[in-house]
Amino acid sequence: MKYIFVTGGVVSSLGKGLAASSLGTLLELRGLKVIMQKFDPYLNIDPGTMNPYEHGEVYVLDDGAETDLDLGHYERFTHTNLSKLNNLTSGQVYQSVLDKERAGKYQGRTVQVIPHVTNEIKARIQAVADKMTGDVIITEIGGTVGDIEGLPFLEAIRQFAHESGPGNVLFIHATLVPYIKAAQELKTKPTQQSIAKLREIGIAPHIILCRTEQPLELDVREKISLFGNVPIEDVIEVRDVKNSIYELPLKLHEERLDDVVCKQLKLETPQPDLTKWRHFVQRVVHPTHHVRIGVVGKYIELQDAYKSIYEALTHAGAANDTKVDIVRLDAEAIEKAGPDTYLNGLQGILIPGGFGDRGTEGKIASARYARESGIPYFGICLGMQIAVIEFARNICGLKNATSTEFDKSAEHPVISMMEEQKKVKQLGGTMRLGTWVTDLKPDTKAYEMYQTSTITERHRHRYEFNEDYKDQLEASGLVISGISPKGELAEMIELPSHPFYVACQFHPEFLSKPNTPHPLFNGFVKAALQHHRAPELLS
Ligand code: GLN
Repeated sequence: MKYIFVTGGVVSSLGKGLAASSLGTLLELRGLKVIMQKFDPYLNIDPGTMNPYEHGEVYVLDDGAETDLDLGHYERFTHTNLSKLNNLTSGQVYQSVLDKERAGKYQGRTVQVIPHVTNEIKARIQAVADKMTGDVIITEIGGTVGDIEGLPFLEAIRQFAHESGPGNVLFIHATLVPYIKAAQELKTKPTQQSIAKLREIGIAPHIILCRTEQPLELDVREKISLFGNVPIEDVIEVRDVKNSIYELPLKLHEERLDDVVCKQLKLETPQPDLTKWRHFVQRVVHPTHHVRIGVVGKYIELQDAYKSIYEALTHAGAANDTKVDIVRLDAEAIEKAGPDTYLNGLQGILIPGGFGDRGTEGKIASARYARESGIPYFGICLGMQIAVIEFARNICGLKNATSTEFDKSAEHPVISMMEEQKKVKQLGGTMRLGTWVTDLKPDTKAYEMYQTSTITERHRHRYEFNEDYKDQLEASGLVISGISPKGELAEMIELPSHPFYVACQFHPEFLSKPNTPHPLFNGFVKAALQHHRAPELLS
C-alpha cells in the first residue's frame, strides 16, 4: 500500500478535494485500486448537525455516515467504496481518546496531543489500510497549513511517513499562486511561505500543485522548484478549468501529475486510457440540446448546498447530449411573488431535500404549479413530502394538510415522524440514514426508469408519508411506486396522469457518476427535453 497525503496552503477553497479526486481518477485509469479519505480538523463529530451555510452539503454514504462533501467528489471521480472509516474529524479523534481515558486504557498516564491524539490518527490510517483493499490511499487533510486545529493531523502524517520508510509516502501540497494585476505578474511568495510553514512541522512536500489563473511560465516554475526544493517536473500547474470540473483530470494529466506520482512511488503502471472520460467531458462542454431546470430551495445562493444534485443533473445532461441550465430559485421569493413569476418557461422543476419550515409554502406552490401545468417535477426527500402535502391539500381537499415537522399539532399530518424516530433524543447521526431497500411497483414510471424491481438508495430523514392517509391519496390518483420491503414506508410516489411527476424519499443524487447517470435524473432530464419540444409539436 502506498500513501498520498494532500495538504493545502495559503487559502481555503483551493479545490484541493477536486485535485485529490482527479488524481484518484488518473491513478484508477492507470489500473490502480484507489482508496480515498478525508481528515477534517473541526471539532464536530461529523457535519451532520451543521447548517449548509457553515458546511455546504452533507454527503451520505452507504453505511449512513454523514460526511464532508469532498467525499462526494471522491465517489464521483473514482470507484472507491467509502464508509464512515473514510472521513475522520478532530471531534471523532478526541471522542475516542476521551472514551479511552474514561475507560482507564492509558494506565494512569497524562493524556496528551502527542502521542495519544496523533496515535489515534495514525491508527485510523492503519485501520483503513487493513480493512480496505487497494494500491494507494489518497488522504486529503482539510483546512490550511498554519491552522492551529490542523496541527495534530500534520504531526500524525509526518510520523506516519517516518515510520513507513522512504518511497511509500508522498506529500502533495496545493497552494495558490496569485496573479497581481498591477504588476502583471504571478507571485510565488505565498507558496514559498506555506511550504516553509509545512517544513517547520517537519514535512517537505514532494509535489507542489499551484492553483493559478494564468499559465505558470518556466521562470515561475523554476522559482517554485528552487524554493520548494522539488525537481521542476514536480511543480504542477492547476489552472482554473473553463467549463467543467470534469476537465481537471485531463488538465492534470497534461501536466504529467500521474506520471510523477507513479514515478515517485515506484508504481509501474501504463498510461491511463482517458477515452471515456474525454468523451464525457466533450458531452458536458459541447452538447447539442439544452434545457432549463429550476431548483427550488432554501440555500440557492450557496454553490455547495445542493452540490450532488447539480452534479447528478450534469451527468444526466451529458447522457442525453444536453446542457442543463440550472435556475436556482429561492422558495421564499416564490412564496411572496407567486410561482408563475419564476417558474414560467422552465422545462423541469426539482425540489431538493431540506429541513425546517422556512420556504415550504413556496415549495408547495411550486409543486402545484408543476402538477397543474404539466412541467416535469422531481421531488427529492423533502421534495417528495412537499408533493404529498400539495396533493392532499389541493386534490383530496385536506385543507390544512402538512408535515408534523412544520406543525406538531397538524390537523392532517400527511407527513409524520417515523415511529422509531420518536424515541430519539440526540440530534447527531440519529436520522434514518444510509442504504435501504425499496421494492418498485411494476408498470410505473419508477420501474420503467430503473428497469428492476428492487433498488437500494441512500436516505437521510426523520419524517415519512403517513400510512393513515394512504388509501385516501391513492383513491385520488396518487401512485405509491416504491415501498420498503415490509410494506410500511412509502419510498416513491408518482402521478400517472402527468408527463413526469416523480418523487422519492431517498437521495438518488448520491449515486450518480459521470458515465453512469442515475436512472431518475436521466428520466427527469429526458422528460424535460420532451417538455421543451411539446409546444413545437403542438404548433
Ligand atoms: N426534513 C425532512 C425529514 O427529516 C426531509 C429531510 C431531507 O430532505 N433530507 O424527513
